[in-house]
Amino acid sequence: MQCDDGTLLGHGAKDVTIINIDTLESTVSAVSGWHCPVCAECEFDDGEGQRYSEALSALRKLADKQRANELRAIRKKLGLRQADAGKLFGGGVSAFSDYECGKKTDKSTVLLLKLLGKHPELLREVQGV
Ligand SMILES: [Zn+2]
Repeated sequence: MQCDDGTLLGHGAKDVTIINIDTLESTVSAVSGWHCPVCAECEFDDGEGQRYSEALSALRKLADKQRANELRAIRKKLGLRQADAGKLFGGGVSAFSDYECGKKTDKSTVLLLKLLGKHPELLREVQGV
């Protein structure tokens, strides 16, 4: 078996690291399959793909939770109630309750909040728009 660039894959059990958004990472130990010695490419043996995808979805959930917690912390730091934040950033009164439960997310709101978290003095300008 070969990788995309023609490198021969070697069969064995190797720890596979999943790097996900927000710099989180998780390692699935001793994944059995065909591993590329150069890149992270791997052809899983039967059943191993499931172990990997379970670890990946657990990591995604963790990342969602972290993002939700971070949003809540920034909103509180800015002294906004959920309903006020929903009016200010759009999405309606329940938007922030949804974001902070991890029910949904909005990329531009996340970016703007992170920015305001670093520069809270700009909140007044946003409120004046
Ligand atoms: Zn490769």
